[in-house]
Amino acid sequence: MSTTEFVIATGNPHKLLEIERILSPLGIRAVSQKEAGVSVDPEETGTTFEENALIKAREVSRAAGLPAVADDSGLCVDALNGRPGVYSARYAGEGASDADRIDKLLGEMKDVDEGHRGASFVSAVCCYFSENDWFCVRGECRGSIAFCPAGSDGFGYDPVFIPDKAGKTYAELTGEEKDMCSHRGAALKKLRLELDKRYANER
Ligand code: IMP
Repeated sequence: MSTTEFVIATGNPHKLLEIERILSPLGIRAVSQKEAGVSVDPEETGTTFEENALIKAREVSRAAGLPAVADDSGLCVDALNGRPGVYSARYAGEGASDADRIDKLLGEMKDVDEGHRGASFVSAVCCYFSENDWFCVRGECRGSIAFCPAGSDGFGYDPVFIPDKAGKTYAELTGEEKDMCSHRGAALKKLRLELDKRYANER
């Protein structure tokens, strides 16, 4: 595949880094919103990860005049009937920090025993070229919620999510180890397959 440019529709530097790290070996150049001169902050009014990913990718692509890739992700906890899900960023209210969200989650989970702490981290990635030409892919990572935070790498809920495949929290993994098992890594692998098909057809 020849080098392709996508603006990455996120204001979150950690997400940008993860997406860049996974896309660059595929010959895809990830352009930040800042580099593209785009300062929009799309309102996430969807009720699914896919709807929100499309909202973000569409708005940023239109503002930048480039194809865009957006990720919308969240943590779906079994014992909380799938919450916080698409509301993961707003779980502890506007202006709350990652630490506030983790405190709230561990508080809600305090009486949940070891065998019932299952959860899935979900990522929907939307790749938007135009209104008639876009697609979404979804990646999931099955795991459980820790009893207390561990590890210092990563961001968001990383210190309390233990992927089944790793046996330690996302925040205790190196970036590359996280990519190998993460929800976002899984979604971006599917994105790659879709783009490979697309560019093979164009050749
Ligand atoms: P959004 O997709 O930017 O709306 O993020 C949803 C929420 O999930 C935010 O609180 C993020 O910090 C959190 N989040 C998204 N991806 C990850 C991840 O890979 N690890 C930990 N937290 C994440």
